[in-house]
Amino acid sequence: MSGPAPSRGSVPPQRPGGAAELRPVTALKGVGDALAVKLAKLGIETVQDVLFLMPLRYEDRTHTRPIGTLRAGDRAVVEGEVQLAEVVIRRRRQLLVRISDGSGFLTLRFFYFTAQQQAQLVRGVRLRCYGEARRGTLGLEIVHPEYRRADGVDAQDTSDSLTPVYPTTEGVQQGRLRILTALALAEAEAAAVRDWVPAELLADPGLPPLADALRFVHRPPPGADLASFETGRHPAQRRLAFEELLAHQVSLRLLRREIRADLAWPLAATGALGAAFRATLPFALTGAQERALAEALADLAKPSPMLRLVQGDVGSGKTVVAALAALAAVEAGFQAVVMAPTELLAEQHHQNFERWFRPLGVPVALLCGRLTGRARQLTLNAIAAGTDVPVVIGTHALFQEGVKFGRLALVVIDEQHRFGVHQRMALRDKGRGHGRYPHQLIMTATPIPRTLAMTAYADLDVSVIDELPPGRTPVRTVVMPDSRRDEIVARIEAACRGGRQAYWVCPLIEESEELEYQAAEATHAALVVALPDLKIGLAHGRLTPTKKQAVMAAFKRGELDVLVATTVIEVGVDVPNASLMVIENAERMGLAQLHQLRGRVGRGAAESSCVLLYRAPLSPLARARLEVMRTTTDGFEVSRRDLELRGPGELLGTRQTGLMQMKVADLIRDSDLLPYVQQAAEVMLARHPDNIGPLLRRWIGARDRYGKV
Ligand code: ADP
Ligand code: MG
Repeated sequence: MSGPAPSRGSVPPQRPGGAAELRPVTALKGVGDALAVKLAKLGIETVQDVLFLMPLRYEDRTHTRPIGTLRAGDRAVVEGEVQLAEVVIRRRRQLLVRISDGSGFLTLRFFYFTAQQQAQLVRGVRLRCYGEARRGTLGLEIVHPEYRRADGVDAQDTSDSLTPVYPTTEGVQQGRLRILTALALAEAEAAAVRDWVPAELLADPGLPPLADALRFVHRPPPGADLASFETGRHPAQRRLAFEELLAHQVSLRLLRREIRADLAWPLAATGALGAAFRATLPFALTGAQERALAEALADLAKPSPMLRLVQGDVGSGKTVVAALAALAAVEAGFQAVVMAPTELLAEQHHQNFERWFRPLGVPVALLCGRLTGRARQLTLNAIAAGTDVPVVIGTHALFQEGVKFGRLALVVIDEQHRFGVHQRMALRDKGRGHGRYPHQLIMTATPIPRTLAMTAYADLDVSVIDELPPGRTPVRTVVMPDSRRDEIVARIEAACRGGRQAYWVCPLIEESEELEYQAAEATHAALVVALPDLKIGLAHGRLTPTKKQAVMAAFKRGELDVLVATTVIEVGVDVPNASLMVIENAERMGLAQLHQLRGRVGRGAAESSCVLLYRAPLSPLARARLEVMRTTTDGFEVSRRDLELRGPGELLGTRQTGLMQMKVADLIRDSDLLPYVQQAAEVMLARHPDNIGPLLRRWIGARDRYGKV
């Protein structure tokens, strides 16, 4: 991918004023090629990058503390005279230096020291030290303090600002980064770093100009409110967060503009095929499903690509909506593909779509990793030929090299929580043919609040399915310690005697797939012994796709009473007769995952329950999470509480949701800025188009694409 280039005037070329900030970091005094290579590991390539390297925290070295006032845990500068220095051997050889300033004593402990250091640290020498005081065997001590001599000509005053602590990498010392930021700040003063955000946009949110913010962040004055810095709520940080959010917002809007300017096949269907399909369904669509479908169909009829996200809680019936959208493409004479995140889910969709579409005379192909050799080649040929295979279901394998679509017009992406802008763009490119791009329908069961959705998905249109099909009884959730396992086993027996089925979800063991698999096997074996009259299956990530599929199919057909599984069943699996779910070590799982898992039951008319087993003792956070699960079944509420519990600092699991990766901003913590960001983005696009290019280069960089590449 090459760097961003202007197209259709959307991303203007860089103005000369910005050139200085794009100077390579080697332009700073003392930075040679070797250091530049190391800095690149921190993402620093230009002088500007230095300024946008954010400190992790700050230290107060603006004044020395009397040693006598130190408490364990304090980080402080102290000054004192060496009373005693000796090398002792206690398990390890070490140098102990005792200093005093008249108010108290402090021990400096060195495990690594040179002969030169040893010669320097002798009785009578004055030292200024910085470090964290701890309680040691000899009273308060600092292990490996930063220190320098405080006597003679070398003596220097304490720093006149708080000291930033930066993220470092091997071979780049804190001191070096402090020098570099000082040099870069000096350039910023000289207006080499331009403020691309017009002052008018900063007035409402009440934020300072860029230069002030940068100086503040890198060199906070003594007495600055460190507490607000630590929570990321200082105006200087918010100024930078605002600018970063603005850059992302503008780039997504440009992307949106551009996508809308592309061509797509308008899929004008009469709806006959859809109507025939509906007639075979044992239910009518809910109002919310109808709305989402109507929105999608209206988009599909347009000659520009649809890019629509359908948010709907687990079990809200997104699959049927996708099926009807696919039929619109088929009726118009085109192909539709449905991409699922796992093979299990792809296979389940394949079964459903086949069952649904065969009576309509619409063939459905499955393309996944399991398909190899000649069979795969035949399928590939058919897909490439076009409408022999109007509907294709698969995993990411659908978009590998070598897969060609003859007449692709619609891409449906199911349950894609981890889907970012880049994947969206890659898919779009893959589907390109005859100068047209496919329509995209993206379905997610991870609901997020509206302002967040408007920010994170500014390039998408959003439909919400906020209603569950009628006749569902909410899942009853109970939380209990795993010491009460026997009771649960009895419950499973009772449920299965009554003709129902149960899931038993084994602990998630992130560190080791092997351990996870062993745990699942052990649980399976124990249940087989405890419940000799029941048929119990086992599904885990180690099984070959064929075996996994066979176990799932048997469970679905009711040939198995209990399915012991790892979290492979987390997403999308649909067996309406299953009404009991047991989740072991629920305290280790996140809320989104628990909610997804629980969504596997409560899909039929029978009253369902979910048992969350935990191993005591519970941390306060785990307790709070389980309490949320116990008291609500609404996905939007679960996600709202999830965000609250995560609190500032932990990004809205941007990693998990694929929402956005940002350097300074935090979508949750800074969510109060979002309305200003929305407004500012409009103003930037309308009135300051020249500022956009440099702003995007600063925050998003040439690595990522925005606008046309
Ligand atoms: P999800 O939104 O989690 O993907 P599914 O599409 O798997 O949900 O649907 C869950 C279950 O609800 C399926 O068994 C499906 O057939 C059924 N279903 C979907 N829509 C309706 C409806 N309008 N009325 C009754 N049942 C429905
Ligand atoms: Mg689904």
